Formats: sequence, structure tokens, C-alpha cells
Amino acid sequence: MIIEYKDGIDPTITGSNPHDYKCMYCDLKLKCEPAKKITKMTMRKVKPHFIEHKNAMEEIHGPFENWYFKTVTGLNYEGTRLAKCLACGWWSIVEEYWIAAEWQIWQLFYGLDGIIKDINVADASVPINELRSFLIRKYTKRFYVNPKSFEHLAASVFSDLGYNTVCTGYSKDGGIDLILNNNSNTIGVQIKRTKNNIKVEQIRAFLGAMVVNGYNKGFFVSTSNFQSGCNKIANRVGIELINASKFYDALKEAQIIHYNDEFAIDHSSFSHLHFIGCYPMNSL
Ligand SMILES: [Zn+2]
Repeated sequence: MIIEYKDGIDPTITGSNPHDYKCMYCDLKLKCEPAKKITKMTMRKVKPHFIEHKNAMEEIHGPFENWYFKTVTGLNYEGTRLAKCLACGWWSIVEEYWIAAEWQIWQLFYGLDGIIKDINVADASVPINELRSFLIRKYTKRFYVNPKSFEHLAASVFSDLGYNTVCTGYSKDGGIDLILNNNSNTIGVQIKRTKNNIKVEQIRAFLGAMVVNGYNKGFFVSTSNFQSGCNKIANRVGIELINASKFYDALKEAQIIHYNDEFAIDHSSFSHLHFIGCYPMNSL
């Protein structure tokens, strides 16, 4: 996964919210798990944040009665949570503490977010797994991916979805870029990494390549869309049209299958988290 992290990211920019368990990039539910405690927070370290919150509240609501913020306990550690998106690789760590005041319990959150590195998608040496998670995050960049890399990427997606996949080799394929095998079905695949919508003639040409190679089932993958009329002919001759949005869904599904068990974040090197916010837990 292509992840780097920085200390002190402004949560209002990265979207880190301790109550929001959805990925800020692809809107998928995050996988949450308990993590090891990271910080060594003390009441002395936390106090300025607590006061800052009190001042901000008073600016909005006017002065509070003393008991509302008057602490009656020290700082209590509640837990550390790691939330990660299996599709795009984004993650967030949140550590939670609480302090009881006479008439209120206050929760304090500290956290750190992953940032997905920008990569040059046209560079053929970028590893396919990095391209995959990057495209989930910035799918508009699909048009600039090296065409050969895009074929390998599509091959890896079909592999994760359960097909035996063979790349036929770039530009000497007679229109078949991938061959998929699944339950004794053989499927020829054509991949067009293009901004233009696919024309009916291109479907016909693909059909020709399928016939020559002896396939009676085909997938036509496009990074854009298909012109009207394509659907009709495709349905008749056993070709499934996979447009940009269908391929995105397939990519997401493949990512989740791929990373379900092995998405590990080494956060042992994180030494400190930044303050996210202070929230009232209940009003007594
Ligand atoms: Zn995501």
C-alpha cells in the first residue's frame, strides 16, 4: 500500500472525525480494530487543550458555571482505535481519553491520518498494487495510466475476482489482451484505456478477434463508456461491456478481497498524535 504519514495534520483538512467510520476517499465503511496505545498523555499535557475547548465553548455560549469544567478526576485512557479502508489504503488512528468534571464527562481525542502519496501513473515501473489503490482514490487519473500497466492492473483485478488470468502480451494480441478461465469457461478480454467512448465498429472488431481465437464469450473493458448501439450487438454475441464505472466497482471489490487479511500498518514508530477535539459524553 502506498502510505506515508505525517505528524500534525489538520483534521479539518484530512477529514478525521472520531465519530465518522467511513473512508473520506471512497466512502466505504472502514475496518476498525483496537490498536496499541501510542501516546503518553498526562493531565498536564492535556490541560491546555481542555482549557482551549472551554474558552471556545464560552465564546459561543457565554460563561459556564464552574462545575461544568471543574475536574474531579485525573486523565483516564479509554482506548486506541485503528480504522482502515481496505479499498484505497487510507487509515486513521484515534486515541481516546476522558476526564470527569463535577457535572460532565469530557472525551478527548488525539489522532493521526494516513496520506496517500501522489504517484506518476504514466510511469510503467509503478507497482500494480500501488496503482490499484491510487486509482481508487483518484479514478480520474485512469486515462493517464501506462496502457500496458492498465492491462496488468485489469489482469490482477480479474485474478482477485476468481479468474485464472493470462496476459497475451502487449500489441501482438490480435485484439485479445487477456484470457480468463473460470469453471471451464474461457473468456477473451479486450481493454481500451481511452477517453473516447467505444464505437460499434470496435465491438465488431473484437468479435472478429474472438472468433479467430475460438472464444464464444468476451469482456470489453473501457475506461470511458460505450456508444449507443454497442449494447445491442454485445448482448447478441456474448460480449459483456464493462465501462469505467463497472470497472471501478470491480476494482473496489478486488481490493477488499485482496487486503481483507493482510493490511497491516506499522504504527510502532508513531510517537505522538495531534489533538482532534474535546466532546461532552453526557450531561448529568
Ligand atoms: Zn477508501
